[in-house]
Amino acid sequence: MDKIIRAVSSDGFIKISAITARVAVQRAREIHDTSPVATAALGRALCAASMMGEMLKEEKASLTLRINGGGPLGSIMAVSDSGGNVRGYVQHPHVDLPLRPDGKLDVGGAVGRDGMITVSRDLGLKEPYIGSTNLVSGEIAEDVTAYFVESEQVGAACGFGVLVDTDLSVLAAGGFIVQLLPGAQDELIGRLEGNIHRAGTVTEMLTEGGAEAIIRRILDGLEPRILAELPIEYRCYCSRERVLEAVSVIGRDELEKIVEEGEETTVSCQFCDTVYRFSAEEIRKLL
Ligand SMILES: [Zn+2]
Repeated sequence: MDKIIRAVSSDGFIKISAITARVAVQRAREIHDTSPVATAALGRALCAASMMGEMLKEEKASLTLRINGGGPLGSIMAVSDSGGNVRGYVQHPHVDLPLRPDGKLDVGGAVGRDGMITVSRDLGLKEPYIGSTNLVSGEIAEDVTAYFVESEQVGAACGFGVLVDTDLSVLAAGGFIVQLLPGAQDELIGRLEGNIHRAGTVTEMLTEGGAEAIIRRILDGLEPRILAELPIEYRCYCSRERVLEAVSVIGRDELEKIVEEGEETTVSCQFCDTVYRFSAEEIRKLL
């Protein structure tokens, strides 16, 4: 089962969220028919958005993570509700790149690093709160870390991992976000850095024991106290009304053309591929 575990060190200075999201990332893979490197990039973004969304306190809030590095994958979008339920897509899901010399998927090369990571929090107010930072490597973990440090002025460290099998299915997916609270002493930070250095890869930790293993290894010796453990899933909130609303923004001329032609319009949801059909009469009502 996919879930987020949130914990804090016994002294209260380190917060950690850890996620296991194999089922959600596999669902994204099936919906978008992603190549391995696209699965890894989108999967990492989904994990990040899910944990960041779950950090929002307002019940109806949502968080949108956009990464556009100018690489062959184009832009990546991941949206989470405040329960960590997440959805997303990648602009060019079939992009395939050779493996890196170390045998890993070349996520950084596929995402590119010439661009921005943008986080938008919709808290139900008039305007969303938007922050963005230059990409560092396109590997996503370093980029999310830079976002926390530069845009939110929070000491942070992140790790994400997606392991894709030879049959393209997702063997493991997950990650963590660690945040330092103000006043954390250098000794504590040193200890945390040592733990992260020794922890091994995210997919190794996930294979060993899921999100629990991540918390255990990253907060080794810091007596983590579990604050919350909650299930998450790939969840889309699209509906006929919402999709029709999206259709209405294509502009009057286009809409009039559709009505004149009198044919049915089909629109599929970008996040879940559900197909919605609208009659010319329904489109006419938008005018
Ligand atoms: Zn949908």
